[in-house]
Amino acid sequence: MESRFDHQAIEPKIYRRWEKSGFFNPDKLPVTHKKSFTIIMPPPNANGALHIGHALFVTLQDLMIRFQRMRGRKTLWLPGADHAGFETQVVFDKKLEKEKRNRFQIPRDKLWQEMWEFTQANRKIMENQLRELGASCDWSRNTFTLDPKIIKTTHETFTQMHKDGLLYRGERIVNWCVKHQTTLSDLEVKYVEREDPLYYIKYGPLTLATVRPETKFGDTAIAVNPKDKRYKKYIGKEIEIETLIGKAKMKVIADAVVDPHFGTGVIKVTPAHDPTDFEIGQRHKLEIREVIGKDGRLNEKTGPYTGMKISEARQRVAEDMKKQGLLVKTDSNYKHSVATCYKCGTTLEPLVMPQWFVRMTEAPKGKKSLRDMAVDAVKSGKIELIPKRMEKVFLHWMKNLRDWNISRQIVWGIKIPAWYRRDEIYVGAEAPREAGWKQDPDVLDTWFSSGQWPYATLNYPKGKDYKTFYPTDMMETGADILFFWVARMIMLGLYRTGKIPFRNVYLHGLVRDKDWQKISKSKGNVIDPLGVAEIYGTDALRMALTVGNMPGSDTAISEDKIRGYRNFTTKIWNASRFVISSYDKKLKVRPRYTKADRAHLKKLQEIKKQVTSDLEKFRFHHAAETLYHYFWHTFADKIIEVNKSRLQGDDLADRAAAQAALLEILEENLKMLHPFMPYVTEEIWARLPHKPRGMLMIEKW
Ligand SMILES: [Zn+2]
Repeated sequence: MESRFDHQAIEPKIYRRWEKSGFFNPDKLPVTHKKSFTIIMPPPNANGALHIGHALFVTLQDLMIRFQRMRGRKTLWLPGADHAGFETQVVFDKKLEKEKRNRFQIPRDKLWQEMWEFTQANRKIMENQLRELGASCDWSRNTFTLDPKIIKTTHETFTQMHKDGLLYRGERIVNWCVKHQTTLSDLEVKYVEREDPLYYIKYGPLTLATVRPETKFGDTAIAVNPKDKRYKKYIGKEIEIETLIGKAKMKVIADAVVDPHFGTGVIKVTPAHDPTDFEIGQRHKLEIREVIGKDGRLNEKTGPYTGMKISEARQRVAEDMKKQGLLVKTDSNYKHSVATCYKCGTTLEPLVMPQWFVRMTEAPKGKKSLRDMAVDAVKSGKIELIPKRMEKVFLHWMKNLRDWNISRQIVWGIKIPAWYRRDEIYVGAEAPREAGWKQDPDVLDTWFSSGQWPYATLNYPKGKDYKTFYPTDMMETGADILFFWVARMIMLGLYRTGKIPFRNVYLHGLVRDKDWQKISKSKGNVIDPLGVAEIYGTDALRMALTVGNMPGSDTAISEDKIRGYRNFTTKIWNASRFVISSYDKKLKVRPRYTKADRAHLKKLQEIKKQVTSDLEKFRFHHAAETLYHYFWHTFADKIIEVNKSRLQGDDLADRAAAQAALLEILEENLKMLHPFMPYVTEEIWARLPHKPRGMLMIEKW
């Protein structure tokens, strides 16, 4: 054996051997592997390189897959890449901006083609990076979220849901990003605390408080709390008010949502431009009067303010009201929470426009609602969240679900399979035969299709893979996308297939730097996983990401930590080199074990039991630590040391016992370490005495 483990030379060689063996593909595993074990990989976004968070999921999923493969399971780890709808659109918009271009000036087809090429190029890079990280996934089943079969399944689901009444196209209030020119789902809204002036405005005999005087042109009612005695006499009456563009009449309504302690206890109701007001409007059948357009400017219904941007109009309206004596007072530092775009920070404009919505809490006839199906699956334990405390978080969120807006006004995504002709709507992948039908110009929220990822990748409903590998065993992903993705996969999986999509959900936290700071480009503390793997070896990186990392909790990583596990790799290599080089194959003597030998072998069995149980119970950090300490401090530092002289001894039976015991301990350790540190262990395995041997990756655990 060479004196040092040259990971840069050996890793690619080993990965090629693994790939060539075919064992990543469950169909090519030995026939003894019968019972399936499946993980569908969360497809990384095809819009950039892998970051340290990706390295974490590769580490955790690969170690589960390798462990189960060695346990004799027919393991499938299905890789993929995500077109990542809006996220990619944002990345691509930035690229266009640098090139002094703008997506709104590029024809749809051309933009699509450019984005297609951009993602395909990124995909290649990303897939090679997955290989470098040692991912033992089945590349023959590699899937892109825009593959025809995924689009087909997505369209079928849309059609089915429409038939079941779970989908509707409605003029509803949506979150509009003026910069990105698209709506966002409620989950994509980022709320920020802000201080703004609170204006007290005269409305006929009443005074009310608002932060948005510029929307007053869209007011269609005034509302008070029904229990508020101060205003009882006005309820149901029409009052005359003076506005900046003439006199108007407005009805005073009572609605329990009005907070009597806010301002004066009176609010103006602007259904077209406020989510709460929209709901009040629905309850009281109020007119929806739009005064702000998609460009974020006031429209022609606002007289002299037409064409003004919101911030400018707000100031002007306030000034003009002051002049007319309509502004009673202004509180300057009113703290409130403002909805912003999670990508660009622009204040979102609530607008009313026709969008497709999924009914989350209403059930089709004779069935359960999407929400209730998912809640039952988690409550009954059919799906287990790891760590368990996440179940509470999950159930709480599910309680407050609102209908899900799945229309997006971008090019990059799966087209909505809906067609319009005059006031008719047709839902289906293909347009009806007659002339005059036009397809919905929007695309689907990317999470609508990725919510179908487990069964769509496995070729539901007729595919052999679906029958063999569904429901899958494990969904391992970031705790931050529990709602974006996991909840929706559970709901859509149960809806479409009638079965849970996975039995377990392992949620990992964020990877932070050594000072527990969030890792970000702006902080300059980015750790490039491929870069550190190149320096210290992939095995070292993987160990550093596993030790100390508990499910659901954030974990810290530093170059020092990775270097530490590089030293461990070296330790494994050196200890193995010693055991292998001092093994005398010609020594054909029956070993005579000592009491100490037996004690060591007994301890080894205990370690095996412990590590196996930890892996079965998803305590990966614990298993990794046990192995690290055992190998370094017990095996290398003690057992090898005390046996060195016996290996040179004249008592051949004793020598045979020493070398047999050492070899057995080494072999078992290589096996147990393999899921964590696949490269160095596979390489040493190939150099053990007693040829011929197969690959460690399918060695029986
Ligand atoms: Zn935005």
